[in-house]
Amino acid sequence: MNKLALSLLALTPLSWATAAERPNILFIFTDDHCQQALSAYDPSRITTPNMDRIANEGMLFDRCYVTNGICGPSRAVIQTGKHSHLNGFIRNGNTFNGDQQTFPKLLQKSGYQTAVIGKWHLKSTPQGYNYFDVLVGQGPYYNPPMKTNNDAGEVVTNKHVGYTTDIITDKTLAWLKDGRDPKKPFMLMYQHKAPHRNWQPGPKYLNWLDDKTIPEPKTLWDDYEGRESPAANQAMTVAKHLSANDLKLNQPRGLTSEQLKAWNTAYGPKNEAFKAAKLEGKELVKWKYQRYVKDYLRCVKSVDDGIGEVLDYLDEAGLADNTIVIYSSDQGWYLGEHGWFDKRWMYEESLKTPLLVRWPGTIKPGSVNRTDIASNLDFASTFLDVAGVPVPEDIQGASLVPLFKGETPADWRKSFYYHYYEFPGAHSVNRHYGVTNGRHKLIHYYGPNHGGGEIDTWELFDLKTDPYELKSEFKNPEYAKIRKSLDIELKRLREHYEVPEDAQQAKPNKQKKKQT
Ligand code: CA
Repeated sequence: MNKLALSLLALTPLSWATAAERPNILFIFTDDHCQQALSAYDPSRITTPNMDRIANEGMLFDRCYVTNGICGPSRAVIQTGKHSHLNGFIRNGNTFNGDQQTFPKLLQKSGYQTAVIGKWHLKSTPQGYNYFDVLVGQGPYYNPPMKTNNDAGEVVTNKHVGYTTDIITDKTLAWLKDGRDPKKPFMLMYQHKAPHRNWQPGPKYLNWLDDKTIPEPKTLWDDYEGRESPAANQAMTVAKHLSANDLKLNQPRGLTSEQLKAWNTAYGPKNEAFKAAKLEGKELVKWKYQRYVKDYLRCVKSVDDGIGEVLDYLDEAGLADNTIVIYSSDQGWYLGEHGWFDKRWMYEESLKTPLLVRWPGTIKPGSVNRTDIASNLDFASTFLDVAGVPVPEDIQGASLVPLFKGETPADWRKSFYYHYYEFPGAHSVNRHYGVTNGRHKLIHYYGPNHGGGEIDTWELFDLKTDPYELKSEFKNPEYAKIRKSLDIELKRLREHYEVPEDAQQAKPNKQKKKQT
């Protein structure tokens, strides 16, 4: 073949001619699910056999970092493969500009059938999907209204009765069985609300774990000494900030009488016992921790069951061999570490998110990647690469496909840029950005501070000597050299990713037309 023919080959979607063989993509996504509550990572609190199955038959990534550890922004990064300051969705409450380039649009254009089912959380109507059926906003745990596009192209909202996790799984199975065009490859985003706050378990698991005591993390009683002021000034402690609704001391709203009866049968006696015990001080915090973590784990369990059903269906339908299955969450989470619930920080528990990938024939079963830094920034490029679609130049993430093959490119990223914007905001976590290379981490807190004024303070952690991030070494002269090199790297990354000097002022992209 001559040079011209070869270059034409590169430009034309030759692989699309063999569309039937292009792999299907099943992206399984949860909200706020941390590695500590997934047994392939940490078996100390829960067993998640179906998530583990993806790891056992595929690859587990230990260092999958999110660029901005909060729900909506993480989803916008995944849609676009671009950092928050470029995709315009920098904090919850923004509206995603769906007119911009997204990976589902590019896949759809290349002949893929695209669908998103479950939690969307980007406010604007999904674009680039042949089918969507999504929760309205955060969506409730029971009896959710969901917004879908019908055959006439209209957007309609339907009511449902049941447990949201199960409904999302049922809709996913229904689309796989009867909703799609079997002649086309598909990209399906199966996205749960769970285990987002306020952790309402499904009917099946209301009493599960009642007789167990969940181990407390080493840092549950953190006093925030050794760090700068932000860690001490947040509003996300198990001790003080869980509400009566979070702790299931109030009856939930929006349940049918039958659902409510099952709920009260389970929580009534537990709550009576709690009231009778009249707990105080540390004992009360310990009780709150158990109640909170058990409800969180119960929500995870229903997700795991649903994943099992979907994986079984891929087997039954003969789809498993030609379907890449990805499991991830929008960011990590604190299961009592540092005394917290919630996310947002660049500290390890919320910076890291689970990433499990099964791709028969490409990924060696049982592979583990503990060293390479992967990210939600990479998902768009990866899906395009998997589908044989050229990755546009302006996408900032890299394809993970070489890592799937166990072939880390020589120029793979050695450091990672993080940026959280939402202050003032829920849980009062100061704005911060930083860099990590997996061993050392430099964080800069900036912008408005608690109680007025501005904050301009830094932390530096050495994860080898201080894996729980309890002592900042920023002012330690022994770390001066490391501090300097991290600072240079941080500046380089901010330039590389085109971060404006005052990124907080970056205006979210305006919608060209009003979306419903
Ligand atoms: Ca989230």
